[in-house]
Amino acid sequence: MSQLLDGNAVRDQIKAECRPRIECLLAHAGRAPGLAVVLVGENPASQVYVRSKTKTAAELGIYSETITPDASITTDELLQQIQVLNSRPEIDAILVQLPLPSHIAEQTILLAVAPEKDVDGFHPYNMGLLATGRPGLRPCTPAGIIQLLKRYQLPISGRHAVVVGRSTIVGKPMAFLLLAENATVTICHSRTRDLEDVCRQADILVAAIGRAALITGTYIKPGAVVVDVGMNQVTDPAEAERIFRPDRLAAFAKRGSMLVGDVHPGDVERLASAYTPVPGGVGPLTIAMLMQNTIEAAERRTGLPPSQC
Ligand code: NDP
Repeated sequence: MSQLLDGNAVRDQIKAECRPRIECLLAHAGRAPGLAVVLVGENPASQVYVRSKTKTAAELGIYSETITPDASITTDELLQQIQVLNSRPEIDAILVQLPLPSHIAEQTILLAVAPEKDVDGFHPYNMGLLATGRPGLRPCTPAGIIQLLKRYQLPISGRHAVVVGRSTIVGKPMAFLLLAENATVTICHSRTRDLEDVCRQADILVAAIGRAALITGTYIKPGAVVVDVGMNQVTDPAEAERIFRPDRLAAFAKRGSMLVGDVHPGDVERLASAYTPVPGGVGPLTIAMLMQNTIEAAERRTGLPPSQC
């Protein structure tokens, strides 16, 4: 019987742990942590993500504001807005919601965020701290996955972890975080040969690919721990038939689309010793870790480690 790793439950634990740290900051620094979200243009998916981030911040008592420049803003104008946020003392954390419109130099913007306020941990300075094993702000999704594994007391040290995906947002930081926990780590990508064989060697398999249910039973070693980062909308009925059980197929027929991860849901349930579902696995952890990172940035900037409370 495989264990379902409940991201919602872990999210709630992390949020509960945030509250006393926010109270500590209020008591000792005289202000709540401050998060600024930069949302350029009107991408509907980005608007939904940003709303849920600011809603969670409000629920916890974190000050947040959303800056919403028009999609026509230039790179230089956006850089100026980032500089203003960098210099505002009450803003501890800056999040630039991606993707940016294609005419904006995304890397230039991300580089302009002050590393101590880089709440997503994407700045090369923070990536360098991660790669060299020094404390710093860690990318939220992979940091949340480590929290999930630890809170379910799933051993990482000495295990063979295979990460499929090498993006700056998920794959690479995930690999470094697993390495920091003493896993033996293999990173795979679109040019990896014999992906199936490599994945089947994993004690811990993390899929961060963006391909609906690419990881099927033949990729999973029986008893492995499988973490599914992927979020893919399936709209093709033939694809849905390959992926979903009859009861979920009925839901698909009604809605016309369904969310699925990078891992085949039926196969993982049958083979893994523990796995994250989609939805309800990795997704909820990302926002919780964003809140934790905002607090951490505020603690560092005010010189107030939680031990002072
Ligand atoms: P990217 O597109 O940036 O990276 C995908 C990675 O997968 C690349 O390294 C790519 O290889 C690799 N890849 C693509 N196709 C294959 C293949 N056929 N075989 C092996 N490797 C392959 O995506 P992200 O890392 O940003 O996101 C990955 C998934 O995670 C997406 O579904 C995204 O929506 C989801 N996500 C979920 C989050 C959450 O909170 N749950 C947060 C962030 C992302 P190469 O480098 O060679 O191109």
